[in-house]
Amino acid sequence: MRIELVNTGTELVLGDTINTNAAWLGQRLAAFGVTVMRQTIVPDGIAVREAMEEAIKRSEVVLVTGGLGPTNDDLSRETAADLFALPMTQDDAITAHLTDFFEKRGKTMSIANLRQAQVPQGAEVLPNPFGTAPGLYFPAEIGAVMGFHCHVFLLPGPPRELKPMMENHVEPRLREWLSLGANWRMRYLKVTGVGESDIVDKVEKDLEAIDGLDLGYCIGKGDVDIRLSGIPEIVEKAGDLVRERLGEFIVSEDRRVIEEVIVAKLVELGQTVATAESCTGGLIANRITDVSGSSAAFGHGFVTYANEAKMAHLGVSEALLAEHGAVSEPVARAMVEGCLKVSGADHALAVTGIAGPTGGSEEKPVGTVFLALASKDAPTRVVKRFSPTTR
Ligand code: AMP
Ligand code: MG
Repeated sequence: MRIELVNTGTELVLGDTINTNAAWLGQRLAAFGVTVMRQTIVPDGIAVREAMEEAIKRSEVVLVTGGLGPTNDDLSRETAADLFALPMTQDDAITAHLTDFFEKRGKTMSIANLRQAQVPQGAEVLPNPFGTAPGLYFPAEIGAVMGFHCHVFLLPGPPRELKPMMENHVEPRLREWLSLGANWRMRYLKVTGVGESDIVDKVEKDLEAIDGLDLGYCIGKGDVDIRLSGIPEIVEKAGDLVRERLGEFIVSEDRRVIEEVIVAKLVELGQTVATAESCTGGLIANRITDVSGSSAAFGHGFVTYANEAKMAHLGVSEALLAEHGAVSEPVARAMVEGCLKVSGADHALAVTGIAGPTGGSEEKPVGTVFLALASKDAPTRVVKRFSPTTR
């Protein structure tokens, strides 16, 4: 199936906004086994029409992003109506949604927003619970009289509005067209603490030997999704292989990141974790608190960057710091045990390291990090890691 993307917005060609939608859509589509045949970025204005028309002529599906907003440079809706020669109608349901959207936020709706309630006759409205601009779907039949044979989707530019619309309204249709219905599965096994090359060494050859398996990788921040798709039996067989070889590194099989898995586990156990961070400056606490529901599992996060802070808040002794330095096994241990005690949590995590680019030494080069875990009912563990990259 030939699919193209048209990403509209002057901010994209100026480089003010990075075209993350193209990357995200490319990944989503790849998961269906579909490779995007072309991505076009165009500024708002006449270029949108040219790009849309060209794409519609040569493709079976075109996804257009952006240009559905209320400002007068947002012209995707009008451009598509014009291309398909469809009259505009005012949609009462959208008008009601818009009125409600502004009312809930205690704002008055501007007249400009009413443009967003216009629907080219025959197009289907794709609801947008996260913003004002609904999406639009033009079934291929609509353009047949003009010689087009292409399904066209107009999607909002803001990623937080685009993503749910893609998942809820575009992908089900794609799945149907690609006849990937019941007899097709996709599974992500998220692994962490193991490099890409290890994955290649341990499983890739054997996965590639599985007939009918579509294999892919998605590299995240500190983790890798191993993507398996195909008929259910094949995906299960491949999943078993990955579990057997990389089991201890698997974080989740539903794309949840490690902090989500940890928070869920703590909530299930009725336990809590606290953090004491030096070099990461609160990053770990932030990842935990980004998880909805984390307040049940997390109450204390210490950012103890300076030695004085490690002493004052975690009870690390001055002598220990003087003897071993802040980046050391004994200090990581003292930090984590202090954190456990002060917070009263069931578990504590601590990190101290040299982020660089300055401050390294021969003995402790930039990238040296000590990670510590203390628990009420288990001995403290400290590990040393070395990751000489950037801050
Ligand atoms: P629009 O629907 O064209 O009014 O877009 C609204 C906002 O969405 C823009 O100001 C951008 O911040 C964001 N946006 C639009 N297109 C993209 C894109 N391709 N990638 C990431 N963000 C985008
Ligand atoms: Mg725009």
